[in-house]
Amino acid sequence: MVDYPKWHRVDPKSFVLSQAPTKTKEDLDGNKISRKDAYKVYLENIEALKVLQFKMWVEKKTSLLIVFQAMDTGGKDGAIRKCFGPLNPQGVLTHAFKVPSDEEASHDFLWRIHKFAPAKGMIQIYNRSHYEDVLVVRVHDYKPEAVWKKNYQHIVNYEELLADSGTLVLKFMLNISLDEQKERLQERLDDETRHWKFSSGDLKERKLWPDYMDAFQEALVKTSTPSAPWYVIPADRKWYRNYAITTIVRQTLESLDMSWPSPEEGLSKIVIE
Ligand code: ATP
Ligand code: MG
Repeated sequence: MVDYPKWHRVDPKSFVLSQAPTKTKEDLDGNKISRKDAYKVYLENIEALKVLQFKMWVEKKTSLLIVFQAMDTGGKDGAIRKCFGPLNPQGVLTHAFKVPSDEEASHDFLWRIHKFAPAKGMIQIYNRSHYEDVLVVRVHDYKPEAVWKKNYQHIVNYEELLADSGTLVLKFMLNISLDEQKERLQERLDDETRHWKFSSGDLKERKLWPDYMDAFQEALVKTSTPSAPWYVIPADRKWYRNYAITTIVRQTLESLDMSWPSPEEGLSKIVIE
């Protein structure tokens, strides 16, 4: 059984989202870390992750699923690029889940999700995920309460199936403040090269912030399990976010104790002419 790190992990018995920081400088031991030092650790983490990913890919025993959820402008795209962009692209896949298509909507909510579950040796990233069915669906009453209420258990069961099949599951909620979102939306208005990122729909969702926080709170405590834990990452500062995510992924993979496959016999006697 993998040993998931405790740092920033949601403890379902005590976690309160409204008290979780969006900004912190605390390192693993509770000491202060500077931006410069965190960046140094981040770079070390990336180098370590390259080797760990390669081992996982060669070994083909384990796979890793990473789930990203956040409010709009929360930094999912940036986190994916900065934390997984430097890895071997042959071993990393990402999929962004949007509003379900007609075909997707005509199946159960996990149908489109399970198709993208990672094969052995692979890292799969979900940019949004099955959690939309207890977040946006709940906030907007897209489905009756009697329907989405049952999804928590379906999700726990689905993720347990993945874990039982050799998939590690790490779920990251990028926790930004309402003020930080305002700044990031404003930047998209001010900077011409970011205009394409601005969506007035995001302003509508922003008004529903308290409802989303309630929905996140319930989702986080109901689905953070020993085999598929949630991590709530203080994400107002991008450097801290990248430092924290890479540290957690690195520690998770290091706890696996992976090994290179055994070589053919007699390799040491081979002479290449
Ligand atoms: P970005 O805006 O950074 O490009 P995004 O993830 O916000 O990325 P969008 O295309 O803006 O991508 O939004 C996707 C939308 O799809 C989100 O508003 C999300 O809530 C919605 N969505 C995803 N899954 C579902 C679902 N199961 N039911 C309803 N809406 C969903
Ligand atoms: Mg969007």
